[in-house]
Amino acid sequence: MKNGKTGFVWHELYMWHNTGNYAGPIPYGNPVQPGVHVENPETKRRFRNLLEVSGLYDSLEKIQPRNATEEEILRFHTPEYLEKIKTLSESDGGEAGFATLVGRDSYNIALLSAGGVLAGLEAIMSGQVQNAYALVRPPGHHALPDTGMGFCLLGNAVITGKHAIEHFGLERIATVDWDVHHGNGTQTGFYNDPRALTISVHQDCCFPPDSGHIHENGEGEGEGFNINIPLPAGSGVGAYEAAFDRVVVPALQAYKPQLIIVPSGFDAGDFDPLGRMQMHSGGFRSLTKKLMAVADEVCDGRILMCHEGGYNAETAPFYGLAIVEQLSGIQTGVEDPFLGLMAAQSGQTLLPHQDKMIAEAEKLLGKLS
Ligand code: ZN
Repeated sequence: MKNGKTGFVWHELYMWHNTGNYAGPIPYGNPVQPGVHVENPETKRRFRNLLEVSGLYDSLEKIQPRNATEEEILRFHTPEYLEKIKTLSESDGGEAGFATLVGRDSYNIALLSAGGVLAGLEAIMSGQVQNAYALVRPPGHHALPDTGMGFCLLGNAVITGKHAIEHFGLERIATVDWDVHHGNGTQTGFYNDPRALTISVHQDCCFPPDSGHIHENGEGEGEGFNINIPLPAGSGVGAYEAAFDRVVVPALQAYKPQLIIVPSGFDAGDFDPLGRMQMHSGGFRSLTKKLMAVADEVCDGRILMCHEGGYNAETAPFYGLAIVEQLSGIQTGVEDPFLGLMAAQSGQTLLPHQDKMIAEAEKLLGKLS
């Protein structure tokens, strides 16, 4: 039943996950001078702040996060990994995997992050809201069963997708990951499972290395239900829109999920230090609109977005505002001051080498119908 409300998940503790003194994404230590970890609170805090300053925050249905339970987490992660990050978190922290810091109390914050996405799911499934954005931290889409990776501790989207299936009894869910990096953890969580269609649109061969290739299409019973669209570096809004129009939307129409989860990173945005794409707020608004249209068609508008990457603190809040405006149907009238600059750059239209890549991905649709 549609009620049109948009939920928003947030907790101040998300900002207290301390990733320490890396030099961007790299550990410091001679010859690398200590700096600031690229996955720090600033981008996300500014996103939430802009929602408030724009006035949109007041119109959103606030959803209180809860802690994910061990049972929910162990549907994806190993007990040994959970114990490892718990132990690190109770001392002075350490590394849970490549570029992935555990700070003091990070274990509990990670439980609240995964639990925030679960709370968003619960609000959607109960009919409290139509769709929701969970602005959680730490992110999740690179985390693997037995290790953290790429700043991600727990696989928030996988844990939530499995809960939708196991607890709420959904027969088909879909994930559409638009973070600039491959959603390898989400892919892993459902690689053999036909109950989840996992789609990742990302920059070709960016992170993790040698991951997210088009031939990674699922295995066993899950064969055909994992779709990677590795767009060439430099892709702009035209390439993203074409990927959605020609692959993502038709795949969702064929599969007919009962819920769409969107691991939502903003690092495909122009100016991002960890990506080389050219998305802008108009592009994110457009992709959200396309997802909402297909969600209306197949799953009563149920879309759950969970926050992932995005490392340009000045521009990312405007992507978030555009997305949440679109989800809620409320226009604040706040203009994105970066939009004109980004939209005017060359390469925003679909280019032949990008078109060729998307045409390859289109061939995967045959397996879904
Ligand atoms: Zn990313």
